[in-house]
Amino acid sequence: MTRGRQLRQIEEREGQPLLSVEDLRTYFKTGHGIVRSLDGVSFDLERGKTLAVVGESGSGKTVLARSVMGLLPSENVIRQGSVRFGDVDLTRATPAELRQLWGAQISMVFQDPVTSLNPVVRVGRQLTEHLAYHLGMNRKEARRTALSLLRSVGIPEPEARLRWFPHQLSGGMCQRVVIAAAIACGPKLLLADEPTTGLDVTVSAQILDLLGRLQEERYMSVILVSHDLGVVSGRADEVIVMYAGQIVEQAPTAAIFSDMKMPYTEALLRSVPRLTNQAHTRLPTIPGTPPNPAALPEGCRFAARCPYVQPRCRTEPPPLREAGPRHRFACWYPVGSPEALQALEANKAAGLPAAKAAV
Ligand code: SF4
Repeated sequence: MTRGRQLRQIEEREGQPLLSVEDLRTYFKTGHGIVRSLDGVSFDLERGKTLAVVGESGSGKTVLARSVMGLLPSENVIRQGSVRFGDVDLTRATPAELRQLWGAQISMVFQDPVTSLNPVVRVGRQLTEHLAYHLGMNRKEARRTALSLLRSVGIPEPEARLRWFPHQLSGGMCQRVVIAAAIACGPKLLLADEPTTGLDVTVSAQILDLLGRLQEERYMSVILVSHDLGVVSGRADEVIVMYAGQIVEQAPTAAIFSDMKMPYTEALLRSVPRLTNQAHTRLPTIPGTPPNPAALPEGCRFAARCPYVQPRCRTEPPPLREAGPRHRFACWYPVGSPEALQALEANKAAGLPAAKAAV
């Protein structure tokens, strides 16, 4: 069997996760020094599960998705660690091997659906070429499959839409076509990077529902990247919270909302709109900005913005530690602990802006 054929037939080993990321680091060499965008990230993803990755802009979540896919330029990028997908380490795969996997076994839905499609190629051709390249379908089979894909992503009048150009479709329709292309070859893993950016609330909810339905029907694993914790609620099995290139908390979704330990997770949750919020009130924001990834602080990277910060936080980086089943967090003074409450009161009394902003 050729290596290419093997890659198309990757099978996860019994009892092993589909994706296993180990100590993944992605650094960029820039004129301002080394930018540590991703700094020692490890996690597993099982078959058929959805993992949400959340954090503010610049937290490293998009770099994580691209680094897992191997979609970063080789120039000026340092990538270390391993990304095991089935029995293949993606960090060691050649460009030709990666091309075999992309689309067929691993797919990605990008932020901007309009620029994800070729503007001068009809929708039908974009889908059928993909099917012919990866699955070796002839024209007739590819057209039939393309029609069925458009139906499965909820595109009305799919025969007519095959002849359309991307600019003739709305943003929501474009994203449905992108999703149709992404699932065309039955990938085991789908990475969706802010798939609802630029779409209105109703269409966003429809796209997220669609992804959830396809994930269940096809038993795919999904990594859903979002800046909004509210978006992932009810749509993910587990949540990873990222800050300044690191995982600062990971837990089953329910635990993130009800029993978060990391002050950054708490702050992100506070900024999610709720039905119980009074009308015309401002949502709390997190004071300050994330640290410069080219000059990261010595201790906890959230220290400058944390309402609970103590001297130890500024010198000793907190390691990830267990809080419960599949729940880990990185903080010296976890939310809800007596030490954290004491620290918060002391910081309020001292007039620390982050502590005064905390409820
Ligand atoms: S309490 Fe300390 S360790 Fe925990 S998040 Fe705040 S600054 Fe970091």
